[in-house]
Amino acid sequence: MTDDPAARIAELIEPLRVPPGTRVDVGRDFDPRYRAGLRKRDAEKMLDTGVALLAEYQQRLAAQDTYGVLLCLQALDAGGKDSTIRHVMSGVNPQGVRVSSFKVPSDEELDHDYLWRYAQRLPARGEIAIFNRSHYEEVLVVRVHPENLVRQRLPAEARGPDVWERRYREINEWERHLTDGGFRVVKVFLNLSKEEQRVRFLRRIDLPEKNWKFSAADVRERRHWDEYQRAFSAMLSATSTPWAPWYVVPADHKWFARICTAAVLAHTLIEIGPRYPEVSEEARRDLLAARRELEREAPPGAPADPYAARHAGPGDRRAAESPGGA
Ligand code: ATP
Ligand code: MG
Repeated sequence: MTDDPAARIAELIEPLRVPPGTRVDVGRDFDPRYRAGLRKRDAEKMLDTGVALLAEYQQRLAAQDTYGVLLCLQALDAGGKDSTIRHVMSGVNPQGVRVSSFKVPSDEELDHDYLWRYAQRLPARGEIAIFNRSHYEEVLVVRVHPENLVRQRLPAEARGPDVWERRYREINEWERHLTDGGFRVVKVFLNLSKEEQRVRFLRRIDLPEKNWKFSAADVRERRHWDEYQRAFSAMLSATSTPWAPWYVVPADHKWFARICTAAVLAHTLIEIGPRYPEVSEEARRDLLAARRELEREAPPGAPADPYAARHAGPGDRRAAESPGGA
C-alpha cells in the first residue's frame, strides 16, 4: 500500500464502486462482511486520519464557496446510517454541514412533485449536505410498497409500468444538472446482511436503552427483504453514473462501514480540490495597513504582534519588537 492518503483512499473504495453501465446483483456481487483485510484495531487510527482530512477539506470547501457536496446514504433498518454519520462527521464544523432525514412524506410533500422535498435540502455552495435516506426512497420503499405511489396521486399517464425506469432517468438527469453546476453528488448504500440485521434488531430489543430504536414496523419491513434486494440491485444498476457513482459499502462491520463512508466523502472532496481563496494585491495592502494600526496599539512592554512573536523563527526579529522599535 502507498503512503499517499489520496491514493490509499482511492484504492480502498475502488472495489466498492458500482461501475456505471453495469448490471449488478447486490446479493451476488457484494459481500456485507468484506473488510479489505483490515482489522478492527486498525480502524480507529484510520478513521481519525479520515476525519481530520475531512475537517481540513471542509474548511477549504467553505472558504472557496464555489462547490457543494451531497452525500446520499441509503440502507435498510439497522444498517447503521445514524452512527455512520455521527462518526464520519465528528470532526467537521457543524456550520458547514447539513444533515436531513427523510421519513414518510407529509401531506404537503405528497402534494408536490416527488423530488420537491429533496430539492429543498440540497447543499449551498461551500456546504456538505447529507441525506439520511434520500430521493432514492422514491424507487425503493415506493416500489416495494406501491400504495405509496397511489398516495402521490400521479396522473394516469405518469404511473404506467415504466414509472421506475422513468424515475431512474429523471434522477440521473437531476444529478447531472447538479453536478454541472458545481454540486457533486455521491451515493453510499450500506449493505447489511439479513443475519446481521436480525442480530442488531435483537440487541435493540434486549438492551433497554436501545428499545427506542426498535419499532415493530422494522420487523414487518424485514419480511420484504428479497423485494428490497431486487429494488436495490435495479437502482444501483440504473443510477450509478460517471458523474454520481454509487458505492456499496459493506455494513456488517460497523467500523469498516465508517472508514469506507469517510473515504468516499474524502475522495469526492479531494477530486474537487478546494483551495483557500487567493488574496488580491489590494486586499493584501489592506491587511498590512490593518496590522500596522494594531501593532501601534500594543501596550508598553508587549510585543507589537504577539502571534508573530510566538511563531517567529530565530532570524525574524521584527515580529518581536515593540512599536517604534526599529
Ligand atoms: P431510525 O429508524 O434509525 O430512526 P429511519 O430512517 O428508519 O431511522 P423511521 O422513522 O424509522 O426512520 O422510518 C422512516 C420510514 O420512512 C422508512 O420506513 C422509510 O422507508 C419511509 N420513507 C422514506 N421516504 C419515503 C417515501 N418517499 N415514501 C414512503 N415512505 C418513505
Ligand atoms: Mg427506522
